[in-house]
Order: sequence, then C-alpha cells, then structure tokens
Amino acid sequence: MHADLERLRALTAAIADAAAHAHRPPDAVRLLAVSKGVASARLRALYGAGQRCFGESYAQEAAGKIDELADLPIEWHFIGPLQSNKTRLVATRCAWVHSVDRHKTIERLAAQRPADQAPLQVCLQIRLDDNAAKAGCRPPQLAELAAAVRASPRLRLRGLMALPARSDDPLQQRAAFRTVRLAQESLLKLGYKLDTLSMGMSGDFPAAIAEGATLIRIGSALFGPRPRRP
Ligand SMILES: *Cc1c(COP(=O)(O)O)cnc(C)c1O
Repeated sequence: MHADLERLRALTAAIADAAAHAHRPPDAVRLLAVSKGVASARLRALYGAGQRCFGESYAQEAAGKIDELADLPIEWHFIGPLQSNKTRLVATRCAWVHSVDRHKTIERLAAQRPADQAPLQVCLQIRLDDNAAKAGCRPPQLAELAAAVRASPRLRLRGLMALPARSDDPLQQRAAFRTVRLAQESLLKLGYKLDTLSMGMSGDFPAAIAEGATLIRIGSALFGPRPRRP
C-alpha cells in the first residue's frame, strides 16, 4: 500500500507537469483512480491520502467495494461495458457513468436513477475506429444521444469519454485525443454545456492532457501492473 501512495505522489507531479506544459492550471485535470482488480483496503489507504474518486469496470466488483467502503464519501465512476442487466446497479450506486453509447442504456439509466439522488453524471463514449465490435458510438450519432441524455431530468450530460487504440507514438496519441476534443466542440456549438473530457490512461495521459483532457482514468500507473483477468 505504501507503494500505491508513492505512485500517487509521482503521478500527481506528472499530471502537474503535463498540465504546465500545456499551459493549463494543475487543477484543470482530475485523477480518476481506476481500481478494477484492486482490493478495497488499498482504495481506503488512497482515500486517506486524499484521493476521492474511483472508477470501476465490472458491476459486481464495483458493488462489493461500494459496500465495503460505504463509510467513506467516495465518488464512484462506472467506466466499463454496460450490459442492460447492469444499468440498475450503476444508476443506483454510482455518481458517474462514462461508458454510455446507445439509446437503450440511456432510457434504462434515466428510468432507474432514484428521484431522491442527484442526477447521474453521464459521459458519452465515442469510438474512434470502424471496429463495431468495440464499445462507443461513432461521431455522427453523438448529437442524437446527447439529446436523449438532456431529455431526462435524472441524467446530466458532462462530456465525452474515449479509449483510443494503444499507441506508443505521442503524435498518434494526440491525434486520437484531438478527434475527441473536436467532437466535444461540435456538441458545444449545438449549445450543450459540457465540462468533461474523460480521456488518457497510464500509457498516454500526457498526450491527453495536452489535448484538453479534464479527467484522466489511471489504473496501472497508480496500482502497479494488473494481473490479467481470466
Ligand atoms: C482499465 C481501464 C483504464 C485504466 O487503464 P491503465 O492503462 O491501467 O491506466 C482506463 N479506462 C478504462 C475504460 C479502463 O477499462
């Protein structure tokens, strides 16, 4: 756990560096700790060091940790694939969801978000390539999905999320993130008030910050390498 705290310190410095490089204030970028595969005791330790938002990719795993850490006011983000039978868990237990990419999910989340909770904060996931097997909507679908989110008082549209193909080339990384930023700008021109670009992971967050990321989703650079899921 001590290693987690060391990595948190190093990461916080690297984020500030990348922000300074992009002439952005250090607090323009939020760190989402992606804690899939990590036991709740380690999340608790990071919470003690000031980390407030955590991201999970698997609904059952998320539910277990949310229960175990129910005494802490953690802001839970769901960032994983959203099968229909998982939307209720997300709608009732999370503050944010980043992986919304179709109408059916929007309808279910809107219907399932309890009226006595704050609206669920939503990012639409955009897919940058033509591989329809991957999650995310294509840019031409964005306006329609954004309108559907806006139509529900139980949901609040915050921005876009993307998970570009891995690349070791910073220029390629930036080109992908730029596409996301431009898609966001086209929604802003349509009058949407958006403040979140959820992009950048352990291997590419400096490029994401250079292109305007406001929230980076970091797993292995914070918790160390993940064992592969079976
Ligand atoms: C696992 C995951 C991350 C974090 O990935 P790292 O490379 O470990 O930082 C970010 N976003 C999503 C959607 C993920 O599933």
